[in-house]
Amino acid sequence: DAIIQIKNVYKYFGRLCALNKINLDITPGEKVVVIGPSGSGKSTMLRSINRLEKIDKGQILVDGKDINDRSNDINMLRQELGMVFQSFNLFPHKTVLGNLMMAPMKLKKMSKESAEKRAMELLHKVGISDKAHVYPKMLSGGQQQRVAISRALAMDPKIMLFDEPTSALDPEMIGEVLEVMVNLAKEGMTMVCVTHEMGFAREVADKVIFMDNGKIIETGTPEHFFNAP
Ligand code: ADP
Ligand code: ADP
Repeated sequence: DAIIQIKNVYKYFGRLCALNKINLDITPGEKVVVIGPSGSGKSTMLRSINRLEKIDKGQILVDGKDINDRSNDINMLRQELGMVFQSFNLFPHKTVLGNLMMAPMKLKKMSKESAEKRAMELLHKVGISDKAHVYPKMLSGGQQQRVAISRALAMDPKIMLFDEPTSALDPEMIGEVLEVMVNLAKEGMTMVCVTHEMGFAREVADKVIFMDNGKIIETGTPEHFFNAP
């Protein structure tokens, strides 16, 4: 059934209700695109799924496990969920390969050799293996974001969360990042993407969710949202 279940979730920042009774089920392999005005709670919803924000009420289950239940290991959860942010968050003092060799591979307790082999495969997958030994500042924004995606994939997550992954990029670099995301979608990855890229939504989304004021106002197919009547 559902790999992510969001049940009656509320999140407050002081008196501001950032998530107001959110209910959402996401099935394995499903691609969900979240749209809505700035400040509507899109990012807070994604961050709550990954437990970067703690919800105040309701329940979020990932793979059947309550993510706020202390008996469930947070590291296990973070391995199931890969997240990509608007800012690339690469470690500046590590090479591209070094960035992939950090936390994720360590969690998996791989030997250095197999971790490196896996990292190179992932860099190849996002089309950037020739940059393995350079530092992030030598890369374009689009290249850095592709590294960030490959780093998130290093944990072999079941689900990928994208929070406006192309919003910080120059227009000419958006395509190369979306292409990596489209390929991931074609491989069957479960994806939840906050994005303004309507072409992407039209191409890959199974479900589009429109949020406003902390609520899910409407759910439908891309056709429902983007085709003129
Ligand atoms: P969106 O991603 O749709 O732009 P957000 O989820 O970032 O919206 O924010 C939802 C609302 O919660 C906004 O009003 C925002 O200002 C507020 N908010 C988000 N994070 C915090 C925070 N850490 N502290 C206080 N308010 C926050
Ligand atoms: P986004 O592009 O996701 O909407 P924002 O620029 O709204 O990001 O927020 C960036 C960071 O600041 C996030 O970590 C968010 O939680 C936090 N934040 C957003 N709004 C507020 C707020 N009103 N007060 C404090 N922190 C906030």
